[in-house]
Amino acid sequence: MDDCHWPWAAIHWGILRTDSGVLNLDTLLLVQVCITLLTTALLVASACYTGSPSEQRWWAAGNLVVSLGLAMANMYGVPDIFNTILGYGMIAFGMGLVLRGLRVYCSEVPRWREAIVVTAVALLIPAYFTFIVPSLRARLCYSGFYFALLNWHCALTLARHGGWRGIVISVAGFTVLGLALFARGMNMVFHSDPADVPGSVVMGASMLAIPLAQVCIAFGLILMVMWRYAERLRKLSTLDALTGALNRAGLEIQGKRVGLRAQRGRRSLAVIMIDVDFFKTINDTYGHPVGDEVLRHMARILRLELRPYDLLARFGGEEFVLVLDGLNRDAAIKVAERLRARIELELVEIDALSVRYTASVGVVSSDEHGYDLIRLISAGDAAMYEAKRSGRNRVIGG
Ligand code: GH3
Ligand code: MG
Ligand code: MG
Repeated sequence: MDDCHWPWAAIHWGILRTDSGVLNLDTLLLVQVCITLLTTALLVASACYTGSPSEQRWWAAGNLVVSLGLAMANMYGVPDIFNTILGYGMIAFGMGLVLRGLRVYCSEVPRWREAIVVTAVALLIPAYFTFIVPSLRARLCYSGFYFALLNWHCALTLARHGGWRGIVISVAGFTVLGLALFARGMNMVFHSDPADVPGSVVMGASMLAIPLAQVCIAFGLILMVMWRYAERLRKLSTLDALTGALNRAGLEIQGKRVGLRAQRGRRSLAVIMIDVDFFKTINDTYGHPVGDEVLRHMARILRLELRPYDLLARFGGEEFVLVLDGLNRDAAIKVAERLRARIELELVEIDALSVRYTASVGVVSSDEHGYDLIRLISAGDAAMYEAKRSGRNRVIGG
């Protein structure tokens, strides 16, 4: 290739050729060491608060061990056993700890056996090519492939877990790191003299890719924990802990969205208010735990009868609200009647006890009361109290 006609290509190759002086091997190695230390410090710092999840602590410990292993593998003037064998073993053990953390994150059972096997193989490969069939080329080649496989195994463990939004950065990091190590291994296959390898383009490219992948992995792992906390917080603040239905805050946020969607689509919006009859008597007769079970049972029944986009919220102690998009008053009364009949038939079984209960239901729709959710709820409440006054266990439209 004529570099004068291809200035960008010349710059490109100039940067990647590590012997060119633009970015030499020592500079890239120094960058890699600094980034390894920084990402390790980041993971350790993020795991250093009380109550940090155990996966975060495994990742921090794993990265710390990998860093020590890298330091040991790059030591000069020490016996072979330290830099060519134990160093590799430590890096692999660190990766085993990271893998353990990934398994904890994915709710899988982590096994020490896995970390031990991962470490043992990493010790055996260089030991074989140092003491039994001494070959620097084979040692670097097979170790490159092995660590590539380990990184891809981490990527696969996460990818199998699903939920791409949270894990994509870490999966990309592990995959790229694996690719860079694999390319290094292949590079060894194609260079008969290992002394040529440091100046090769593949070596230069991998020295750039590895720190970038390390940054991706560290940030990705921290993001994964952050997403999980954010999701937990969202659930805590919008869901009712006893029944899993929306709480008032959740109803306010989601109800507004469903109301606007129905209004824009010029569809009717129905609200159904359901209140357990004589719930205080159930509590007084059987105790609060049985009362709680009745509430959970009711939420389960209601959820079973709803479409995925309908809203179910616990509005007060034993009062639930349903918000149904696209139903007018008559259609909603039919749904409410079906719910009431099912509740009346169902038996709540707790230990040796069987409890029956009924519910009174008020039904309103936007056709009569408008789309304002607060107005709909108070009209539905009035209809529900009318059902109580008329003898309970019935549906009244408001
Ligand atoms: P009505 O038929 O008129 O609706 O009468 P009721 O007994 O169902 O209604 P009331 O308002 O008199 O009693 C509601 C009871 O619900 C009082 C309260 O102790 C109980 N309660 C509220 N929240 C919970 C809860 O989370 N668990 C249990 N077990 N009971 C609760
Ligand atoms: Mg009640
Ligand atoms: Mg009530």
